[in-house]
Amino acid sequence: MRSAVLVLFLLFTTQTQAEVSKPFILVIDPGHGGIDVGAIRGIFKESDITLKVAQKMQNLIQSDLNQNIEVILTRETNKSLTLENRVKVAEARNANLFISLHANSSQASYVSGMEFYFKKGVYDIKMPAIEASTAVKKIVGDLTSFGQTRQSLKFNQILQTQVKALGSDSKTVIKRAPFFVIEKTSMPSALIEIGYISNISEAKLLLTDERQQEIAETIVKSIYAYKNSL
Ligand SMILES: [Zn+2]
Repeated sequence: MRSAVLVLFLLFTTQTQAEVSKPFILVIDPGHGGIDVGAIRGIFKESDITLKVAQKMQNLIQSDLNQNIEVILTRETNKSLTLENRVKVAEARNANLFISLHANSSQASYVSGMEFYFKKGVYDIKMPAIEASTAVKKIVGDLTSFGQTRQSLKFNQILQTQVKALGSDSKTVIKRAPFFVIEKTSMPSALIEIGYISNISEAKLLLTDERQQEIAETIVKSIYAYKNSL
């Protein structure tokens, strides 16, 4: 009897500790990979740069013992991965935040800077006057989606503030777009275009370890600020 009580006590305390130390699950999605190199210019391959920045972010977070964040990369090597499978990784782990990394390209070579995209979702939701239970379910679903979209916007705004704090001259823009990976993931999400490879000076910069590290640090700082604001 005594041992049964002890087992129950241990079960209870173990569960409580597990609850307390439940990590914040972050899924980082390095855009493209494998045969899909993404935007390309000379030796610059979007799929390589996104993976390098993602790995730098992972290293930064994992070496920070103050942060209870579990980092999962949708791909850890240069392999092909469908958009559906990227979403599946985030959904399977019930991630708290999903970040997809990309590099931009434009016909206009003078365009530069970072861009942050958040999901279109149902941010402009209007409350219809209906009573039916199915309609109520839809409203609950829409409100959840509304909340995720609002949180996504909040994270993007934190990102923009952090990037501006770098004192960089290059512009930063927050946009909304129904990109598959941020639209189909059910948690707060962002798609970050880390710069324009069609801009020669920005492309050169993005190839450097220093710039990749700076971008990784800025995004990680934003993740910490976002997590602490919850
Ligand atoms: Zn891309």
